[in-house]
Amino acid sequence: MLRQYELVERVKHYDPGADEDLLNRAYVFAMKAHGTQKRASGDPYFSHPVEVAGLLSEKRLDASSIITGLLHDTVEDTETTLDTIGDKFGTEVAGLVNGVTKLTQLELQSSRTKQAENFRKLVLAMSQDIRVLVVKLADRLHNMRTLRFIKKEEKRRRIARETMEIYIPLTERIGIRDWKEELEDLAFAELNPDARSSIVNRLQFLHEEGGDTIGRVIEELQRVLRENDVDAQVTGREKSPFSIWRKMQRQNIGFEQLSDIVAFRVIVEDVESCYRALGCIHGRYTVTPGRFKDYISLPKPNGYKSLHTGVIGPENQRIEVQIRTELMHEVAELGVAAHWRYKSGEQPKPAREGRQYRWLRDMLDILSNASGPDDFLEHTKMEMFSDQVFVFTPKGDLHAMPRGSTPVDFAYAVHTDVGNRCVGAKVNGRIKPLKTELRNGDQVEIVTSKAQTPSPAWEAVVATGKARSAIRRFIRSKQRDQYLGLGKEVVDSAFRQGDYQLTEKALRGILDKFHVDSVDDLYVAVGEGRHTGREVLYAVYPSAKSEAAQAAKPAKKPAAPAKTRERPSPGVPITGLISGMAIHYARCCHPLPGDRIVGIVTTGKGVTIHTINCNTLEDFADMPERWLDIGWQIDEENPQAFLGRIHAVLANEPGSLATLSSVIGRCGGNIYNLKFTSRGEDFFEMLVDIEITDVRALNNILAALRATPVVNAVERSFS
Ligand code: MN
Repeated sequence: MLRQYELVERVKHYDPGADEDLLNRAYVFAMKAHGTQKRASGDPYFSHPVEVAGLLSEKRLDASSIITGLLHDTVEDTETTLDTIGDKFGTEVAGLVNGVTKLTQLELQSSRTKQAENFRKLVLAMSQDIRVLVVKLADRLHNMRTLRFIKKEEKRRRIARETMEIYIPLTERIGIRDWKEELEDLAFAELNPDARSSIVNRLQFLHEEGGDTIGRVIEELQRVLRENDVDAQVTGREKSPFSIWRKMQRQNIGFEQLSDIVAFRVIVEDVESCYRALGCIHGRYTVTPGRFKDYISLPKPNGYKSLHTGVIGPENQRIEVQIRTELMHEVAELGVAAHWRYKSGEQPKPAREGRQYRWLRDMLDILSNASGPDDFLEHTKMEMFSDQVFVFTPKGDLHAMPRGSTPVDFAYAVHTDVGNRCVGAKVNGRIKPLKTELRNGDQVEIVTSKAQTPSPAWEAVVATGKARSAIRRFIRSKQRDQYLGLGKEVVDSAFRQGDYQLTEKALRGILDKFHVDSVDDLYVAVGEGRHTGREVLYAVYPSAKSEAAQAAKPAKKPAAPAKTRERPSPGVPITGLISGMAIHYARCCHPLPGDRIVGIVTTGKGVTIHTINCNTLEDFADMPERWLDIGWQIDEENPQAFLGRIHAVLANEPGSLATLSSVIGRCGGNIYNLKFTSRGEDFFEMLVDIEITDVRALNNILAALRATPVVNAVERSFS
């Protein structure tokens, strides 16, 4: 285990301005916090954060990151709180520790590709400071190094898979090459031990047979370059078993056909020398076609630059050669970390405000400097994260949602039926309002009820098109159901009045006449007022028309001012309507039996009934043809319920709402809906919709409420 002074020395070596005292205190604090906790390996738990800090110091990260490495598990695994860390180590460190803790709490349970992609985005989106991600990757690397100590195979495999799918692509993205290769090899060993050991054995065999091939090739390359006046440093490195295996898989080739088990690296002084070195090598050896790649003029998205080529080299060996400058080499090895070092000079200054954002900016720089359509795609994806949130189902499935999404959006994203039946939501285990905005990493559970149907009000709280269109579709179909029911009733009564038999078969025979496709569509057309019940009757029984004309004559009494008006259909409590017209009670004024009323005709929709004093009527002042003189015709035997609306001002005190509702109940009213319009310290105002039979009943309720002490004011609302 890395000792305290060794760690501090190492950091001081590359960052002389680092706060030595703070580093020491963090070391001691973490040791005390983890106390006697043990790792699966039997080592004291404390060895883990120290190793993580050590890995970070190898990459020359700043003191805050090193301290975060030391403290990264204290909040998750010990009694320590974030506040304590803030007090002792400052807000910068507390922010970083908080970020790493949040990432640690995320756990992907499903391993589908799409999920993995979302999860990577989530991790990136949550690492607002890229140092959080670097610490998390160091944490994962040390956990992978000690993976073999975990007893349960299932758990080992899950961690290895997660490493493969999530953390390795992220390590590649920020360009820390040796961490990426080590993680790959460790995960490979767990997930596919047979493949790995066969490759290791083959490599071993090659070494024994060929001796020090690598050394001889290096020597010759070095000599060739020197003869051409190129000052270069040549190294050779065997590829990792995992990358060999992946190549064999991707190209579907055997081990013998692999040309580049060893990669040689030529490091030169400047860009010009890169191309000169390339020229020498291509001049001296036969080039393998299709292997040349110029990542200097077209760098990879993570900032990687190099020239790659393949030749049949010394001793007739197929080799791969990478040519780059010292600076390019640093970037290739360290990724984002190298960028940070060069931008801030050789001696990084102590942390100052805003520095944490520079890491992210650097990364965005790298991404935005990327060229080519693929790179651009990568870049756009990155941009997109800021418009997205990633949330989990209780089972651990991950959904990407647009920012501003609510549990209603989430419910529809899971399934339309779940959306339609959604009555409530638990966010991270707690019941939350349906309009709650979801945040990254939230776990959302939708509570459903078979009795629930979408509310038109939901449209205002959703951010996704899918949810909005589903809500609209549902409401439209519900309206259609209403028109269908009404239409059936109207047609039925038209037939009944003339004692004609109504059969579905007969209706099917007249569909063409009405330009509809089904009997239901015909009913809807009648319900909407596009056709009358009598039109349907006459279409089925043409003779009924003349019979009706004759029958009407003796019935014509001078006393009846019926003119062209007909008796209303049963169940419709309005007189003066043309039979079969659909009626609606206006939402603006809530007309009640007993109110003076007026009907406004809307083609295709029917008649809307307003009270005579409703303000909305002004809109129709210029259209007298749309006004209908109507009145109430109430069946006293079977009173119907109507909605009346009142506006009440109540004292804000315990029990006042209960009093209001019991007064209304005692007067025979049923509260249908309740909406607060304003809430003050002493009073609150609300609109109450009450089901009652007529205006008299509502007036009774108003009088009773005015006599109630907690009710400050109350009146009927026409808006
Ligand atoms: Mn850890």
